[in-house]
Amino acid sequence: MAQHPDVIVIGGGVIGAACALRLAQRGMRVTLLDRGKAGGEASPAGAGIITFGSFTRQDPLAILRRRSVSMYAEWTAEIHQASGIDPEHDPVGGLDLIYDDNQLAAAEREVQAARSANGASDGEPVAERLSREATLEAEPILSGAYESSLLRRDISVVDNPRLIEALLGAAAKAGVTAMMNARAMDFEIEAGSVRAVSTATDRMPCGRVLLCAGAWSASLGTRLGLSEVSYPVRGQIVLLRARPGVLRRTIAFGAHYLVPRRDGRILIGSTEEHQAGFDDRATASAAQNLLQATERFAPGLMAFPIERTWAGLRPGSVDGAPVIGRVPGRNNAFVATAHFRGGLTLAPGTAEMVEQMICDGADEEPMFAPARRAIASARA
Ligand SMILES: Cc1cc2nc3c(=O)[nH]c(=O)nc-3n(C[C@H](O)[C@H](O)[C@H](O)COP(=O)(O)OP(=O)(O)OC[C@H]3O[C@@H](n4cnc5c(N)ncnc54)[C@H](O)[C@@H]3O)c2cc1C
Repeated sequence: MAQHPDVIVIGGGVIGAACALRLAQRGMRVTLLDRGKAGGEASPAGAGIITFGSFTRQDPLAILRRRSVSMYAEWTAEIHQASGIDPEHDPVGGLDLIYDDNQLAAAEREVQAARSANGASDGEPVAERLSREATLEAEPILSGAYESSLLRRDISVVDNPRLIEALLGAAAKAGVTAMMNARAMDFEIEAGSVRAVSTATDRMPCGRVLLCAGAWSASLGTRLGLSEVSYPVRGQIVLLRARPGVLRRTIAFGAHYLVPRRDGRILIGSTEEHQAGFDDRATASAAQNLLQATERFAPGLMAFPIERTWAGLRPGSVDGAPVIGRVPGRNNAFVATAHFRGGLTLAPGTAEMVEQMICDGADEEPMFAPARRAIASARA
């Protein structure tokens, strides 16, 4: 008789795939279910910026970010080797353009905090202020419509559609059974334990279940007894077909940014739309806003053709932190979701945390616990 999986992971985005790989590497029998083709939602729709975030923060989320960023080069190299697909992770660095007093004050705080927290990267400061002239020299495609910039050497980029493909390939090599077009619909629960996951066509017995269904986690979470673990936040991107070398670093200007790919394409991102629900269509007004902002800071890019636009649904977090931990009242159910704007960055650290919880019985981080009080009060 075929043995049932030790863990059924629901959702084949970057979080589910990273966790599935890690659990299989620890010798667990893992089945990964995705309702479509895995990796088809927020994960390939993202921009692929991998960053520490603010150096001034010292909370558990900042620590998880730093842990993840520190793992990234080795993690992507390992996935590349196992799958034969290069996720194109490049330590390009980034420039945050500064054009008002608040940004200036924030940049000064970042420089100070980076100096005390992280020291140097290859002998150079992780964050430093550049004059307008030095900024222009670094990235000649920029206009001069800013006072100065913050150069961040911690920032890297990954080609996230390739990353997902590579992760799924590495997971398959490690023994993960991936089932596509298999929508998890419900759970069979007995004496506080999940005995099986049901899809439209199958009843799948399992030892444990791990819910990683991104923006769609809430309805399945409810069936496990959790309320509203995440909600959809639409983000849109315009892709330009430029040439390699036109832009070398990521550029941030206010809420928007530019991201270079190795092949010369440039992503212009992004919107943050909390009221769009599950509507994942790209809109003309979002493209117009992204292009207008780009015209102000990098007018030279306006000559390049638009290749396409798209939208993705981020798994929003009701209190700003991801939900990673044990489902209260269930003996063998876990969740890892609500990574909002940082799931690509946080994937290796999240997978490590999940592995330690499931395989070693480690405690969950209270800030991420599904039962935490902050979620309840944010909802109220
Ligand atoms: C425009 C945009 C830009 C972004 N930029 C960045 C960035 O630069 N850096 C960064 O770190 N992060 C970024 N993000 C955020 C990042 O993409 C997300 O946090 C991350 O992809 C979430 O991964 P996930 O696996 O939780 O969700 P998803 O990738 O959405 O995966 C969830 C999966 O679950 C499956 N699923 C859903 N319901 C079911 C079900 N019932 N049964 C089975 N399967 C199911 C779906 O089909 C999907 O494949 C960006 C996101 C967007 C949209």
